[in-house]
Amino acid sequence: MPDRTYDTIIIGAGISGLACARQLNKYDQDFLIISKDIGGRILTSEDGNANYGAFFVCSDYDNVLKYVTLKSRIRLRDFCFHENKNTYVLFEPKLVRYLSQFIKAYKLLYKFRKKLRLLRKNSETVSQKKAIENNSFLYDLYMQKASDFIKGHKIDSGTDMYLSKVLYSTTFSEVSEMNAFSFLQFLIPLVTPIYTFTFEKEKMIKPFQDKIKIGSVTDIKFKDDKYKIKTADAILYSKNIVLATEISWSKDFAGVKKVNSPVNTNMIHVKGIAKKEISWKNYQLFSPPGNVQAVADLKDGTYLFYYKNEVPDLKDYFENPYIIASKQWRPAGTINGHNLIESNRGNNMYLIGDYNIAGLEESYITGLYSANQIIQSD
Ligand SMILES: Cc1cc2nc3c(=O)[nH]c(=O)nc-3n(C[C@H](O)[C@H](O)[C@H](O)COP(=O)(O)OP(=O)(O)OC[C@H]3O[C@@H](n4cnc5c(N)ncnc54)[C@H](O)[C@@H]3O)c2cc1C
Repeated sequence: MPDRTYDTIIIGAGISGLACARQLNKYDQDFLIISKDIGGRILTSEDGNANYGAFFVCSDYDNVLKYVTLKSRIRLRDFCFHENKNTYVLFEPKLVRYLSQFIKAYKLLYKFRKKLRLLRKNSETVSQKKAIENNSFLYDLYMQKASDFIKGHKIDSGTDMYLSKVLYSTTFSEVSEMNAFSFLQFLIPLVTPIYTFTFEKEKMIKPFQDKIKIGSVTDIKFKDDKYKIKTADAILYSKNIVLATEISWSKDFAGVKKVNSPVNTNMIHVKGIAKKEISWKNYQLFSPPGNVQAVADLKDGTYLFYYKNEVPDLKDYFENPYIIASKQWRPAGTINGHNLIESNRGNNMYLIGDYNIAGLEESYITGLYSANQIIQSD
């Protein structure tokens, strides 16, 4: 690496760092992106067929959709819910009992989706924190506990029966841990088509691949109006810095005191013959706070098995299970809480990623925001 001062160094090449890089590149900015890997929590199996991290995209992920190929649609009829030893699907007679609650939840979701789309637009030029604060409907949801929201709207039993299991499989959290914003955000798949996908990494990085350095940053210092960035084999300098790593790492450098709570999960990619309990539908959704969270049938004789803490005995679920790969997500995200963090940290430092709101599209937009700020100040 030449010993010179870059205009911008981005640390982290997950979707947020890559979005920032693409936008800076589009406007001919001088930058370097340093990361341990490319994709971050978009992690693919060796053969490229299974997504070990982010699993689905929504049809309204306008930015992210440019860099993915859609695979199969995930439909509500593909879900099988597990409660103790009972299994049930959505479209069966007992749903009638919960119909009025579902109608209420759908109305709330349509309203939320409209506001979220507006938030996405606004947060390309205003920090995500300020954009949420400027929208009283979304801000109040962020500051409210999901459990109070659910009680207030009298959708408790429908949530227990169905929604809590959907949320356990996507947020790896219990409803009691969530804020009302995340509760609604992670139910958007009920009102918006979602698809499994292949990440087109090469397409994403092609215009700036010569500006990527694979490596781990070990220290950052700010002195004489520039940043000194240390990796195992180099010391680099920049005027602007974009921290696009997990918040657990970047918070100290950015001087952030309070962050939302981390959520962990573990995943096993397993080949085997599914036993009866998990063979009814493609997606098995389990009850919080049980150890098993979800199982996805990838339709190629392999399954993704998500669990919370203890390594499960796979023989309870499969004949002849064979482990292809496993991954501990520590954390998978930091969505639970009411702490909104400002992206613009002053001194030309930007913090981007999914620390306020999780998800690929939301993370992408934080990257766009930081790049737009840098381009504007140029
Ligand atoms: C199991 C799981 C399932 C998910 N499912 C979905 C889903 O279906 N749909 C959806 O929209 N979202 C989903 N998400 C959330 C989504 O993946 C994240 O919100 C998003 O990928 C976060 O992107 P990011 O750029 O903020 O962070 P990351 O993707 O975590 O990127 C951080 C980058 O920083 C790098 N890095 C870290 N430390 C250093 C260092 N010291 N030096 C250099 N580089 C460093 C990392 O290697 C990584 O490349 C899921 C997440 C997980 C874990």
